[in-house]
Amino acid sequence: MKLKNRVALVTGSTSGIGLGIAKLYAKEGAKVVISSRHEDDAVKTAEAIKEAGGEATGFAMDVSDEAQVNSVVEEVVQLYGGIDILVSNAGFQHIDAVDQLELKDWKSMMSVHLDGAFIVAKACLRHMYRAGKGGSIIFMGSVHSKQASKLKAPYVTAKHGLIGLSKVIAKEGAEHGVRSNVICPGYVRTPLVDKQIPEQARVLGMSEEDVIKKVMLAETVDGEFTTVDDVAQVALFLGGMETNVLTGQSLVVSHGWFME
Ligand code: NAD
Repeated sequence: MKLKNRVALVTGSTSGIGLGIAKLYAKEGAKVVISSRHEDDAVKTAEAIKEAGGEATGFAMDVSDEAQVNSVVEEVVQLYGGIDILVSNAGFQHIDAVDQLELKDWKSMMSVHLDGAFIVAKACLRHMYRAGKGGSIIFMGSVHSKQASKLKAPYVTAKHGLIGLSKVIAKEGAEHGVRSNVICPGYVRTPLVDKQIPEQARVLGMSEEDVIKKVMLAETVDGEFTTVDDVAQVALFLGGMETNVLTGQSLVVSHGWFME
């Protein structure tokens, strides 16, 4: 078990990539904190992990609500004695060309992807620094942390921004043994992607099949989607790494869509 007794908070962990990471972490011995905007979903997900033999607790937590985040993190520290790993994963997508994009949609993206990442990281770092046992912060970036696509201005901007935040935390956290890295997945078939296939088809005037082949997977080396498990395995590797050798890094997991 690679994460025996480590406490891991995973945001947005009732579906998609976050859920995959939470399940793998629990299998590897971590005490997993499931968090979602909806308490019922978080509690149900934690129960399912427990039924499968893992340890988990579910909390309602909107990452853009600082008071709620601080209170959940405090409760987790009381319950499990600290936080060793944060996977800052909550997010969503919005499809629009810049000249059509409304300011409220831009702001709502920033409030979840950037404000949310900052709020949750700050709350966890304070405990990690105080406990003096080090820790690992993992942000869920994207290939869109490295390059742009049409129709995704706020997402691309926010995902680029996460790399800056992570690098600063890597520098500030080093003296406390805290590492910070970004995982940058290519397209993964989660609800987030399933929702945008018809949206892109409509805006681009293409069939959904062409959106997949000619837009989403066109630049991969093999036309394959990245999987939830691929991303979870990378999160396991980064979460279990005990030294500062990998910090301030961003790892692209995309079937070669983007090459450094
Ligand atoms: P998903 O929709 O399955 O999961 C996202 C989760 O975040 C959901 O549970 C959602 O409820 C939650 N969430 C959204 N806003 C929130 C908020 N304010 N507070 C708390 N939770 C909130 O999507 P996913 O594909 O699993 O996405 C997870 C992360 O991975 C996102 O950050 C996304 O940008 C990133 N990502 C996804 C892909 C992909 O192709 N699916 C590729 C690269 C990066």
